[in-house]
Amino acid sequence: MTLLDDLSGFEFEDAVASLFRAHGYEDVQTAVRIADEGRDVTMRDGETAVVVECKHTDTVSRPVVQKLHSAVATYEYDGPKRGMVVTSGRFTTPAEEYAERLRRNDDPYPIDLIDGTDLRELGEAVGMDLYNGRIEIVCEETLPVGDPERVLVDAVEDVENAPSRGDLPDPDVDVHYKPIVDVQAFTRSTFETSVGVIHRIDRRDHVVIEADRSGPRLAPGGLVDLVGVEPISLIEAQATFGGGAERFGQSESAYREWAKTALCDRLATTVSYTGDNNVDYTQECRPSPGDVDLRSVEPLYVPRIEAEVELGEYTHGYEYDAAGNRHVVRDDGIRRCVHCETAGADAATYTYCENCGAISCETHTKTERLTGEPVCTGCAVTEDFLLATKHFFDEENAATFREEYEAMPPHQKAMENPYLTAGAAAVLLVVLFVAAAALI
Ligand SMILES: [Zn+2]
Ligand SMILES: [Zn+2]
Repeated sequence: MTLLDDLSGFEFEDAVASLFRAHGYEDVQTAVRIADEGRDVTMRDGETAVVVECKHTDTVSRPVVQKLHSAVATYEYDGPKRGMVVTSGRFTTPAEEYAERLRRNDDPYPIDLIDGTDLRELGEAVGMDLYNGRIEIVCEETLPVGDPERVLVDAVEDVENAPSRGDLPDPDVDVHYKPIVDVQAFTRSTFETSVGVIHRIDRRDHVVIEADRSGPRLAPGGLVDLVGVEPISLIEAQATFGGGAERFGQSESAYREWAKTALCDRLATTVSYTGDNNVDYTQECRPSPGDVDLRSVEPLYVPRIEAEVELGEYTHGYEYDAAGNRHVVRDDGIRRCVHCETAGADAATYTYCENCGAISCETHTKTERLTGEPVCTGCAVTEDFLLATKHFFDEENAATFREEYEAMPPHQKAMENPYLTAGAAAVLLVVLFVAAAALI
């Protein structure tokens, strides 16, 4: 039996605790081992207290079962009690016979035996894959993908001069499913000094952990809103949109611990108070992981959509996390200038260039002199007229305008450089004013 072999004794207990939590046992605790009493995990099955002894060994013999039986008998609990020995290996025949005899005699403290094979089956039943000595979260639910084409088309529509919906080519859509862990927690903590209670924490928090292989981290704000949307089956989503699911990086127990510590960090605060001696003090008030009660810990996938649309010489990308018709943008390549990378400004400040397919900021967008259409500085042909630079789609338009310009009467030519014209007018006014003043 190679299953679970790489786990340390401690990790094995942890894995067993996760497994029973997933099976709906309540109040699952990994207790400190007390000498050889072997009280590794305690939990409740309805009214019944269950004391679980974890044995990460090849074989478990009869004395282990016997010892647990007396430990259960002396375990302090006001109600029915039973025991359970869980091993990654197997039980000897005398051990099995002993447990069987307790059951047959209707002993008040029966002992269940779970061997490596049972363990694997229990894991499979709740979507935990016990393989190569690792306990991996196997998750079957994802937030819904929504309608990626519509999201992309809506984003493009925000851009000035953008092609209308009907004229947009079909976008290229890539979906993959990113693992997250959705945690709801209650934290209760009281901080006291000689002057009494100086700080109290009693609150509910919602934390979303990004749980891929690059290590746990708090998800950006928007994801917390997405996880409120009803999940759908991962297989169903993949059947429609394709895409692979990333693996979870750690076990559920590891995420539980991580979430508790992250919450303690978040809720830590420094409190000022005045002592009995009228001296002002400050004290750091940090809850401990034991003050945090995790009410629900749900592994889940969130679809990451990478959509692209090809326009002219450019491919504009749009990356976001989805939940039905809600989404959180991760990388907006639509509302971004292809020339200077300026992004994030109001959508209306970006303009589509029909000439080359670029989307540009105000600085990099000009008006085509011949057609009056927007053109970007990246593709425009330029030519100076009366010290003013004019932009054209191409040489042909520039040549056409050059002819028109030549045929213009002088006052109209002057209008081609309003600044120069305005400047000249100002100079003329000053001259007239001076001349008038001289006459008086
Ligand atoms: Zn720009
Ligand atoms: Zn252009």
